[in-house]
Amino acid sequence: MPKRVAVIGGGPSGIAAALGALARGHDVALLERDAVGASLRTWGATRFFSPLSMNVTPRMRELLDADFDGDALLTGAEYADRVLAPLAAREPLHGRVFERHEVIAIGRRGLTRGDYAGHPLRAERLFRIVCANDAVFEADVVLDASGGLRIPRAFGLGGLPVLGEPTLAHGPIRTLGALADACDALRGKRVLVVGGGHSAAHAIVHLSALAEAAPSTRIVWAVRGANRRPCEEVVNDPLPERRAVVERANELASAPPEFLRVERRAMVERVAQHDDRIAVTLTGGRAVDVDAIAAFTGYRPDAAFLTEIAAEVSPVTEGGARLARAIANVTDCLSVPSVAARDLESGEPGFYFAGSRGYGRSKTFLLQTGFAQLERILDAVS
Ligand SMILES: Cc1cc2nc3c(=O)[nH]c(=O)nc-3n(C[C@H](O)[C@H](O)[C@H](O)COP(=O)(O)OP(=O)(O)OC[C@H]3O[C@@H](n4cnc5c(N)ncnc54)[C@H](O)[C@@H]3O)c2cc1C
Repeated sequence: MPKRVAVIGGGPSGIAAALGALARGHDVALLERDAVGASLRTWGATRFFSPLSMNVTPRMRELLDADFDGDALLTGAEYADRVLAPLAAREPLHGRVFERHEVIAIGRRGLTRGDYAGHPLRAERLFRIVCANDAVFEADVVLDASGGLRIPRAFGLGGLPVLGEPTLAHGPIRTLGALADACDALRGKRVLVVGGGHSAAHAIVHLSALAEAAPSTRIVWAVRGANRRPCEEVVNDPLPERRAVVERANELASAPPEFLRVERRAMVERVAQHDDRIAVTLTGGRAVDVDAIAAFTGYRPDAAFLTEIAAEVSPVTEGGARLARAIANVTDCLSVPSVAARDLESGEPGFYFAGSRGYGRSKTFLLQTGFAQLERILDAVS
C-alpha cells in the first residue's frame, strides 16, 4: 500500500532514499535544512576516495546525464552540483524536495515519547514533523538521513571541551572547506592541526603545500597516538586516493621537514588568546604558540529533534543502537557488514536511521554500504 514517506536530509543517502521510495509507489517529501548536498560542500577541494560509480545507486545513475564518468573522483561540491542538485530538480523528485526546511522536532501525532510505549496503538498514529520555518509534515514512515557529521566534537582531552576556548578571538577551523578558505590568511603563520584521522591527513597535505610555497609557515601536528606514522593505514588499500593522502601525511610525520613539528601522545588541554597569538598547552604541560588552530577530531550526529521519538540510540556511536551492535566488528569501510533488516529498525515503528546517520560516530561508513541498507529498509516498509 502506498505510504507517505518523509526523508530528512538532502545528502546522497536522502536523495537515494527518496528515489527508492518513489520507485516503490510511495508519496515522498524530502526536507533539507540548507540546500541539497550541504554537508558535501564543506569538504573544500577534498575529493571522494571512492569513484563516482560507487557513490550512486543504479536508480540515480539512470537519471543522470549521458556524460557520467564512473571512474571520476569528484570533490564534495562537484558531486553536489553534478549529481544531487540535478536529481533534486528533475522528475521524479521535482517538487518533492523542500530546501531550507530544517527539521526541529518529530513526534507521533498527539503522543509524547512515553505514550503507549511498545503498544501497537502507537504505530497507528502518523508522524508529525515540525520545521524551523513552521512548516509541518505528516508521514507514515520517516527516514532520518541527516548525516553523521552535524556537530563538531570538542577537541580537548578525551573529547571534552578545551579550557579557555571561549577566549579565542576566532573559533578553530573545523572543516576541510574552512581550511581551504583560510589558506591565504594562513600563509606564513603558525598553525596547530589536531587529530590523526583522514581529515587531519588531508589538512597536513594541504598545509604542507602552503608551507612549501610560503616557507615561513609552521605547522604543529598534535596526535593522540605514539606511532611514527600517526594515520592508520589500510594494508593494500584498494582506494588509491585514500592511500596517497595517508601515505603522504605519514611520510611527512616520520621525517618532518623544517616547517613541521609532530607532537605525539598529545591532546589539547588549554588555550589562551594573547593579542594575535594563541598559547596552547598540550598533554604533559607542553607549550605551543600558534596563530590558528585546525581541529579534525570528528563529528557527531544531531539528535536534538528526536526528543519525542522512542528510537534506540547507541551509547557508543550515537547512531542506531541495533546497527551499532551489528557492525561492531567492522574495522574498515570496505569490509561490508552483514546486516539483517531487524538491525536497521530503530525501536520506533516506521522510524529509521538511514545512511551515515545510522553509523553516527563510527568511521566505517561507505555510501555503497549505506545504499544497500536503504534498499532493505525500503523493502521492509513497502
Ligand atoms: C572529507 C570527507 C570525505 C569523504 N569521502 C567519502 C568517500 O570517498 N566515500 C564515501 O562513501 N563516503 C565518504 N565520506 C563520508 C561522507 O560524509 C558520506 O559518504 C556522505 O556524505 C554521507 O551521505 P549522507 O547523505 O548519509 O549524509 P550527509 O551527506 O551528511 O547529508 C546529510 C544532510 O542532512 C541535512 N540535515 C542535517 N540536519 C537536518 C535537519 N535537522 N533537517 C533537515 N536536514 C538536515 C544536511 O544539511 C545534509 O545535507 C567522506 C566524508 C568526508 C568528511
